[in-house]
Parts: sequence; C-alpha cells; structure tokens
Amino acid sequence: MNKLISVIVPLYNEEEVLPESYRRLTNVLSGMEENYELIFVNDGSRDKTFAMASDIQKKDPHVVLVDFSRNFGQQMAVSAGLDQARGDAVVIIDADLQDPPELIPQMVEMWKGGVEVVYGKRKSRQGESVFKKFTSFAYYRVLDALSGWKIPKDTGDFRLMDKRVVDVMRSMPEHNRYLRGMVAWAGFRQEPLAFDREERFAGVTKYSLKKMLKLASDGIISFSGKPFGIMRWLGGLMLAAGLIDLIALLIAWGVTKVNTGWPFGIAAVLCVGGINLLALGVCGVYFERMYDELKGRPLYIVRQVLRTEQPKELDR
Ligand code: UDP
Ligand code: MG
Repeated sequence: MNKLISVIVPLYNEEEVLPESYRRLTNVLSGMEENYELIFVNDGSRDKTFAMASDIQKKDPHVVLVDFSRNFGQQMAVSAGLDQARGDAVVIIDADLQDPPELIPQMVEMWKGGVEVVYGKRKSRQGESVFKKFTSFAYYRVLDALSGWKIPKDTGDFRLMDKRVVDVMRSMPEHNRYLRGMVAWAGFRQEPLAFDREERFAGVTKYSLKKMLKLASDGIISFSGKPFGIMRWLGGLMLAAGLIDLIALLIAWGVTKVNTGWPFGIAAVLCVGGINLLALGVCGVYFERMYDELKGRPLYIVRQVLRTEQPKELDR
C-alpha cells in the first residue's frame, strides 16, 4: 500500500501567496510516489484567502480545508491540521514559501530511512530584518540555556513527523502550545535537515511583534522551571551574604564596643530580602508541580511494545 503524506499549511491573510504556494506544493507532491493530502487551515483570514482556498478545495480532491471562526494563531492552526491529518507522515510548512516545498521529498526519504522527526534547520535567512535575525538568534540561545529539554536551535515549525509523533501531539492538551518544544519533548529519532530560508514570496509577515513575544514566552514558560531555580539561588546567596555580614558586624561590635549602626541595617535588608526571595523560589517548586499536572501531558511515550505470543503450554 502506498503511504499517505499529509501537508499542513496555516493561512492567515495569505491571498498574495496562496496560488503560488499551492502551485509549488502540488508540483512537488504530485511528483512523489506517495499519495498526499494538502490541509489548508484558514486561521480567520480577513482577505480573500478563504474564498481562494475553497475554490482550490472544490477542484482538487487532494485538498482539505479547515476554516476557523476567527484568528487563533499559527500554533492553533497547525494543531487543527494535525487533528485532521490522516497521513503516515505529516509535514508542516508555512504558506509564504520561506520554507521551500522542494525539500519535502528529501524529508520523506529520511523518514523512510527510519527518522521519525525531520526538522528544517535554518542555515541562513533571506530578507529578514537585522532586528528579527538578532532577536531570534538570541532567543534560541536563552531558550536553550533555560529549558530542560534540548529544543533544537534555529528551527521553526517546518518539519516532517511520523504518525506516532503526531499522535503524541494530539495527546498533549496544553493550551499555550509551542509545537517545536512539544516535539522535542516527545523524543523519538529526530534529525535536522539544513536549508536556506528564503524570502517571503509576497506580502508581509503575519506575525506581529505581540504574537512573536507570546510565542517566545510560551517557549520558555512551558518548558522551563529555571526562573524559580534562579530565585532560589539568588535568595540563598543574599541570605548567606547577609548572615556573614551580620556575624562579622557582631564580632566587630564585641571587639571595638562601638555599634556601627547603619551597616547592621544593610545586613538586615540582605537577610530579609534573601529570605523572601528564597521563600518565593520554594513556592515555585509547588507551582512547577501544579503546572506540570495542569499541562496534562502523557506520563510516558511508548514507541512500540515487542512481545512474543506465549506458547499455549506456558499459559497457566
Ligand atoms: N499564520 C497563521 N496565523 C497567524 C499568523 C500566521 O496561520 O496568526 C501563518 C501564516 O499564514 C504563515 C505562517 O503562519 O503560513 C508563518 O507566518 P509568517 O510567515 O507571517 O511568519 P514569519 O515567517 O514572518 O515568522
Ligand atoms: Mg514567513
């Protein structure tokens, strides 16, 4: 049986790129031996995106169109696509052709070779502002330092996932979704595929600064309890410094019989501040646990269970 590849494309006000995007995707996908379905998710566009996508859908049986009631954001659009996908492997790709569709066959080849997640890794980025390049460079390094999971640097959502990984994504009900982190968390055999990020084919970015910041903070908050750890360390250090200071002052007072006055004040501030911060950090441990429970992620992920059927005579 021929395998089925699902390709998910989130669309938000993409009337300028949709026809070209559809043309290039179809061109690539129809040339492969696998069957394919193309899942467009219209994320509450206010331009002609929906009309255009539904025209395409009427004419092309490969196309599935999911239409949102309003704009929910790219991560939700992709999640909806994952829920609809029936493929043995699923590819996520932006509509603006910054991620070249021509790489899909290579991803599929790697997948057939046993790789369960092939993530596009950006070697270079064309046509993006110095600000965007710098902030994203810095962000991935901070995320890497803070997060407990190795979330690959300089990767977006452009990737191929095996059906098993997609099933895991579906079983993670968290609301603030940072898919590339969730995929990293899931484990499985993951390998990068380096590529040069193209310029947007047409139109402007649909990621406002606000949306970008939300995504960035989701990445850190959902995958790291380290900010609390930093509080505990800092609080502990302050408290220790305050105590040492206090002891030194008390000894000096005993020796010289002169009460130095204000240095005691500083020691007290350090001690009280340190205790406060430490206590907050300790509360953080409980927060972290509650947050973990709330996320409701699966406890563990099984790739497969290997078992030999027991011969009858061993049955008791
Ligand atoms: N997108 C979306 N909903 C949004 C914002 C963006 O579905 O609220 C889609 C958009 O149509 C595109 C992809 O997400 O297919 C990436 O967006 P964009 O290219 O504007 O982001 P950038 O490449 O500038 O980070
Ligand atoms: Mg883009």
